[in-house]
Amino acid sequence: MRPDILTPLFASLAGLAGVGPKTQRLFDRLVAPGGETGGTARILDLLFHLPTGVVDRRNAPGIARAAEGAVVTLEVRIDRHRPPPPGSRAPYRVMAQDDTGEIALVYFHAKGDWLQKLLPEGERRVVSGRVEWFNGAPQMPHPDYAVAPEARDTIPAVEPVYPLTEGLTPRLVARAVAGALERLPALPEWQDPDWLQAQGLPAFAEALRSVHAPAGPLDHPATAKAMTRLAYDELLASQLALALVRRDLKRRPKPPRPGDGRLKARILAALPYSLTGSQAAAVAEIEADMARPECMIRLLQGDVGAGKTVVGLLAAARAAEAGGQTAFMAPTEILARQHFRTLEPLARAAGLGIAILTGREKARDREAAMAGLADGSISIVVGTHALVQGPVVFRDLALAVVDEQHRFGVHQRLALAAKGPGTDLLVMTATPIPRTLMMSYFGDVDISRLTEKPAGRKPVETRAVPVERIGEVVERLAGAIADGAKVYWVCPLVEESETVDLAAAAERAGDLGHALGPVVGLVHGRLKGAEKDEVMRRFQGGDLRVLVATTVIEVGVDVPDATIMVIEHAERFGLSQLHQLRGRVGRGRDASTCLLLYKGPLGETAKARLAIMRETEDGFRIAEEDLRLRGGGEILGARQSGLPGFRLARLDLHSDLMAAARDDARLILARDPDLSGPRGRALRTLLYLFERDEGVRLLRAG
Ligand code: ADP
Ligand code: MG
Repeated sequence: MRPDILTPLFASLAGLAGVGPKTQRLFDRLVAPGGETGGTARILDLLFHLPTGVVDRRNAPGIARAAEGAVVTLEVRIDRHRPPPPGSRAPYRVMAQDDTGEIALVYFHAKGDWLQKLLPEGERRVVSGRVEWFNGAPQMPHPDYAVAPEARDTIPAVEPVYPLTEGLTPRLVARAVAGALERLPALPEWQDPDWLQAQGLPAFAEALRSVHAPAGPLDHPATAKAMTRLAYDELLASQLALALVRRDLKRRPKPPRPGDGRLKARILAALPYSLTGSQAAAVAEIEADMARPECMIRLLQGDVGAGKTVVGLLAAARAAEAGGQTAFMAPTEILARQHFRTLEPLARAAGLGIAILTGREKARDREAAMAGLADGSISIVVGTHALVQGPVVFRDLALAVVDEQHRFGVHQRLALAAKGPGTDLLVMTATPIPRTLMMSYFGDVDISRLTEKPAGRKPVETRAVPVERIGEVVERLAGAIADGAKVYWVCPLVEESETVDLAAAAERAGDLGHALGPVVGLVHGRLKGAEKDEVMRRFQGGDLRVLVATTVIEVGVDVPDATIMVIEHAERFGLSQLHQLRGRVGRGRDASTCLLLYKGPLGETAKARLAIMRETEDGFRIAEEDLRLRGGGEILGARQSGLPGFRLARLDLHSDLMAAARDDARLILARDPDLSGPRGRALRTLLYLFERDEGVRLLRAG
């Protein structure tokens, strides 16, 4: 149960000054976790909505010395009002001066009587806002503040700047945040007081207050300390929760599952290739884990095309040798289907029952699969997260293989693991996640890496082509298609609107169809599952030669004889996305090409990204460059530049705190395994505060 002391923080914003139902909805969109899907913004969310910059109003240079574009505060005498002539669209101007010169305060669509009251002629006023020079004369459009000299103190010297959403003004947000801060209860200290003192870090509440009322620019030492404190709280909460979950998983008694190699041998015999050295090594590590009496939590890292699927299959074979079942989870239906197509013949060759469950099988097939899982006649089930949501019962779920892990939340992984009393967990990812991010997701985790590419892979020739030359590109595609080539054509991701994405992709597919004939298919997120399958099947079969796709959702798709990848608006994609997309080609015997169609002029970052893509195919190098260029969020496909899944901690500023938080979490649990001492109880509050309380349920009551 969440401690009562936190109750005010989990309340909605109702009752805050200036927040009615309509404003609440705007805040829902702005700050609620999952706001776009209908979450309700709470006091806590507002408190964690941190400023991204400041406006410093301490600059008071006098009118003549106010630089173009600078925010300044000026004490002026109001000279005269110059309303626009009736019917004109010109702005309303109020002329004012100080000892150094004259300035026009400029208002669009303003009411004259309101301005007369605000800025009476002949009176002195302090105004603050951004100055623009126009034809040699300074003006200040819509001053942010205009007050009498006695009220100068009501203008904040340094004002935080918050991310906004349409309909919310800076002042509304600032006022709501101030109201939220008033509701912040006195919380027990969960950090080690000696450590806090040694580091010079403030208490939680004090830290929150000071980041919302920064004393200067955000890198001001006091603000930085406050940010560090908050980030460390969040990191500790996360590491503590992960440590609890991990301890629980490790503690669950698991029947050791030694295999005899019989099924593995059959699968190896059925493969048209032999394993690479690192595939074989990964399989050996997994088998060793599975034979232990504690649960495996292992990450299998390998670049796109490295051959992770077969490693997962061999782990499943191992589980089956000991009589256990495997759930293979993919992030999308297309990927689940593709896995199924790859795995089915191999599983059958080994005599293993296999089924697919994605939430849209026909009722009969679904029931048959469920029955087979319950009675154990099905050894491997491939599916999406529907696998963990539905009432699926396994006879003996020995292994969960989760593909492309970063699309799943901790909850889903745990829910899957909880389907079996002692389920081993193998998470496969194509993202060479840097150590810091890995820790943020898993705490401690064992890792197997596929470092070699399967033999026979050819490098992909990568070229950047300005979009103006799209006509030539299409012409060359026509030639290549005549020679038997298959082409992926990826359309841009426009974050704001899926509808716009779709329209652009549909139009492109139409154009290409005109130019190339009826060999162009389109997949996008809104297609029904069966329609998607159909398009994929026709592309795989060669009936379609060009697959236009809207998104990177289908990154795991494997069509080995596709040799051309065209990425439109390549400048809009992150490096890792580009790399993953390019990884779709270069898988077969023939040489492959990747064309990065870009629309200039390119910014520095975009230019650097395209250059790196031309230079290297090394996924680790690309991940590092990506981290350098864009911050960690991009690596995991998240939109924010902070740490995905974190609200306060930021990768660029706080990644070195992660290891400290992990060690701290370990130490805390070693000393107080049930978090029942005074600090332990405060730490429980911390877990609830950051909504990492899934770990608390695993503790004995207290
Ligand atoms: P990913 O790691 O991206 O999931 P896949 O498992 O989809 O990669 O494998 C990519 C392709 O490489 C598949 O067509 C697969 O059959 C093939 N492959 C996997 N291992 C080997 C190998 N050792 N030798 C040759 N081809 C392989
Ligand atoms: Mg894969």
